[in-house]
Amino acid sequence: MDTSAAAKESVTVVGSGFASLFFLMYLLDWRFVPTVGARLSRRRSRMDVTLIGPGHFIYFPAIPEFLTGKRTRSDITVDIRPFLRRRGIRFVEDQVAEISDGGRTVRTATGASYHNDTLFLGTGPTFRKDDIAGTREFTYSPCYGPGDMERFSGRVDSLSRGVIYIGFKINKEDGFVAGRTGPMYECACLLDFALRKRGVRDDFEIHFFSPDRAAGEKGVLTDRLVERGIIMDDGYGPAAFVEGGMVDPDGRFRPADAILYSPPMTGPAFTRASALPVTKGGHIAVDRYGQVPGLAKVFAAGDCAGHEAPPPWVPHQAHMAQLRAQAAAANVRAILRGASPSHRYRHELSCILDMENDGLWMHRSEDGRPPFWNLFPRRSRQLVRVKSAFEKAFLFYLRHL
Ligand SMILES: Cc1cc2nc3c(=O)[nH]c(=O)nc-3n(C[C@H](O)[C@H](O)[C@H](O)COP(=O)(O)OP(=O)(O)OC[C@H]3O[C@@H](n4cnc5c(N)ncnc54)[C@H](O)[C@@H]3O)c2cc1C
Repeated sequence: MDTSAAAKESVTVVGSGFASLFFLMYLLDWRFVPTVGARLSRRRSRMDVTLIGPGHFIYFPAIPEFLTGKRTRSDITVDIRPFLRRRGIRFVEDQVAEISDGGRTVRTATGASYHNDTLFLGTGPTFRKDDIAGTREFTYSPCYGPGDMERFSGRVDSLSRGVIYIGFKINKEDGFVAGRTGPMYECACLLDFALRKRGVRDDFEIHFFSPDRAAGEKGVLTDRLVERGIIMDDGYGPAAFVEGGMVDPDGRFRPADAILYSPPMTGPAFTRASALPVTKGGHIAVDRYGQVPGLAKVFAAGDCAGHEAPPPWVPHQAHMAQLRAQAAAANVRAILRGASPSHRYRHELSCILDMENDGLWMHRSEDGRPPFWNLFPRRSRQLVRVKSAFEKAFLFYLRHL
């Protein structure tokens, strides 16, 4: 039986990042390999899916590798339109500007309006670039995408000697780690590696700073930086970034030739014009089922969304985006079957810190479950290959399946 378009549930997915693509993967039948069977299944599907967002996906976790020249923009960018076409998903290249009508209407930046029966939001983070004066003008960030990291790498390559600062700041208002910590440690180690390879490491100072690190803080990540001769500037936050460096709260000027910085993270700007509940820290509010409270059939996952009662160590990560999108998709399917949402997501931190000549598997989960049944070592250079294998598999899936 073919289900007519009129009877189908209209599902709108916003964003083209990890959360949205994982959501689609878990929502649709034949999620891994869309074959002839998938086409038949699509005709029988009770869903009519539209994605609104950019036409390309960016694999952010590989951006730090721009520093060593192992990755470029084209390596990590995928045109997702063929992926969507293979799944019969309608694509609208636009930006969502407002959500109204209890989530049922989405208005875009070009002024178009789209109705839905179910809405999924996976629009990623916004960075508080005005939190420290001069952030926009005088810092680069791997978090803004390939362009900014290319400019930072170009700046470093143009220097034969110099002082480079790398740091981060976290938004702690929602009780979890809304900031890019791991990637900044990774960038510091990869920069050290790249400068050594160029034979100029002794001509550079690399400083690591964060207002969220206590003076003299110790730990496995700090050890990796210290053993590379990276200077730990702990226990203070810059008052301002300025031309040629930064200024401490006590007015001291610290000269820098380049600053790589990750500002605190928060939720999307369109919440201000929308009827969406927002957390204290500015994220879209969601419960453990991925639902936006008070709105029927509106879900959010990934870096745009807060958590209900999170453990303080849980970060914004592609891995968490996957777990959250999986639960949201299962709950959408349950609702379509007439059941209540019952799929909760686990809080888990899991990522490989790629230092090129070393690797660390950072892991913590609320139920104590280890990553991949403990098949992999927690520290080994081989983990760099494992991380690369995850990337290749995901990008192959998007490009070809
Ligand atoms: C340098 C770096 C290294 C990282 N390393 C790791 C790692 O090793 N492991 C790990 O698990 N995570 C890592 N992360 C974190 C990971 O990349 C993010 O947590 C993940 O991308 C979040 O997925 P998302 O779908 O929520 O957001 P995104 O991937 O940012 O996707 C959001 C999507 O929504 C779109 N969008 C935004 N606003 C709108 C709008 N108004 N309308 C329509 N579309 C919109 C965006 O263009 C984008 O397509 C890293 C991040 C960075 C920056």
